[in-house]
Amino acid sequence: MVSRVIPVETFDLVIFGGTGDLARRKILPGLFRRFRAGQMPAQSRIIGAARSELDTAGYRQMIADAVAEFGGDESNDKKSLQDFLDRLDYVTIDAKGEGGWATLAGLVRQDVVQAFYFSVAPSLFGDLAERLHTHKIANAKSRIVVEKPFGRDLETARALNQTLATHFHESQIYRIDHYLGKETVQNLMAVRFGNVLFEPLWNNHYVDHIQITVAETVGVGGRGAYYDKSGAMRDMVQNHLMQLLCLIAMEPPSQFGADEVRDEKLKVIRALEPVEPHHIVRGQYDATTDEPSYRNDAENPRSFTESFIAMKCHIANWRWAGVPFYLRTGKRMKARSSEIAVVFKDLGHSIFDDDQARHRNILSIRLQPNEGMDLQVTIKEPGPGGMRLIDVPLDMTFAEALGDDAEDVTDAYERLIMDVIRGNQTLFMRGDEVEAAWGWTDPLIVGWEARNDVPKLYDAGSAGPEDAMMLLHRDNRKWRDIKV
Ligand code: NAP
Repeated sequence: MVSRVIPVETFDLVIFGGTGDLARRKILPGLFRRFRAGQMPAQSRIIGAARSELDTAGYRQMIADAVAEFGGDESNDKKSLQDFLDRLDYVTIDAKGEGGWATLAGLVRQDVVQAFYFSVAPSLFGDLAERLHTHKIANAKSRIVVEKPFGRDLETARALNQTLATHFHESQIYRIDHYLGKETVQNLMAVRFGNVLFEPLWNNHYVDHIQITVAETVGVGGRGAYYDKSGAMRDMVQNHLMQLLCLIAMEPPSQFGADEVRDEKLKVIRALEPVEPHHIVRGQYDATTDEPSYRNDAENPRSFTESFIAMKCHIANWRWAGVPFYLRTGKRMKARSSEIAVVFKDLGHSIFDDDQARHRNILSIRLQPNEGMDLQVTIKEPGPGGMRLIDVPLDMTFAEALGDDAEDVTDAYERLIMDVIRGNQTLFMRGDEVEAAWGWTDPLIVGWEARNDVPKLYDAGSAGPEDAMMLLHRDNRKWRDIKV
């Protein structure tokens, strides 16, 4: 049975920071793809807003260039691109001043879906929220979209939540974590809750451990000074990796509704145990002959900030008691690869001579590149010569399973923006979730700062520091290979 696609209503989408990197690289090329897919009703409009002195023609040219650079093959469709550009407006506006707000008030309609994307520094969120109200632009049905970082600790996240709550109800606030917009992440829920096969095995009776890896090959390069105030824990674990962990570990929600799903995710965060210091490995990438070290990139020769972190976590509930969740993320690693691996337990007893311990079922969920899933199963090696067992992947890669339809695997940003327009908050973080996540990470950060923990150096192009290997080795386990 094919599910119904929920139609999109006519909308006005205002992108504050419409001239910025995120808007040009992700948001507008993504919207162009949705436009080509017929998901932008005829009267809908996109309004860029920033301080730069541009007129609408200048802004359209800027976005035409951005789509040509970041929009892939789709940008060759000149007719569609022109039609799309015709929907764009631009307002010169200062979040901190009064200039431009009256113009914006005149442009944004009150009788269509209104969405305001805050693609600016979080320090401007309060100014934008306030002026949207004082200038009577936003109404009780408007939606606002906010980007990471959502605070840098519990205190700042709480303050940000309170600022937004002064002007908007929680049901109007869409906190983006683009990992949740990935096709595979949603497919993970479909596979878990749409099949009879997995859910009975999804617990400490059958799962040995779970690994979540988000590896990047890039260093912190041009944004080293910014990154140095954050580090891998704040930049990746507190949001992306914890969100993935929640989706893997949560109880089945009663239905696939925004609050039902988010209630279950929140319970997981609240059940996370504090992590022992010796179960955390922090690292910094070293220099190579061609590339600078982390400290060089960060322009901070005494930096203690981690560009890599690996940790072993436990969830204190009936389902997961005793099952380690190993998380790891880092920059300048051997491949750009994100994967969740559910490693099932060994067979209790093998009837074959073959060393059964070598054969394990592993469900691998790949987020990038090549989004897809495979389930490693053990079969007989074909041919004569007795019963020899081999492991083969049951491949659920979208391109192979879905043929031409797989080409429509939508980018995370465009999917999430369309969810905003549809008013579906399921794939967005709720305020209490974000606070609970900081509530778990804060003491870990405070702990290593108090210990003056020095990150271990690791070779660029490796899988991280040796101590990260030992974290699993001590448990008689090993990390999955990081590969494309
Ligand atoms: P950016 O390239 O520095 O763009 C910032 C935007 O804000 C520009 O359009 C700038 O335009 C506008 N702006 C700055 N001050 C303003 C003011 N007082 N009033 C109105 N507009 C103002 O930053 P970005 O990379 O696009 O990031 C935007 C937000 O997304 C940040 O919170 C960032 O942390 C988050 N984010 C970005 C990425 C990414 O890949 N880039 C990924 C995840 C999250 P004018 O200078 O013309 O005003």
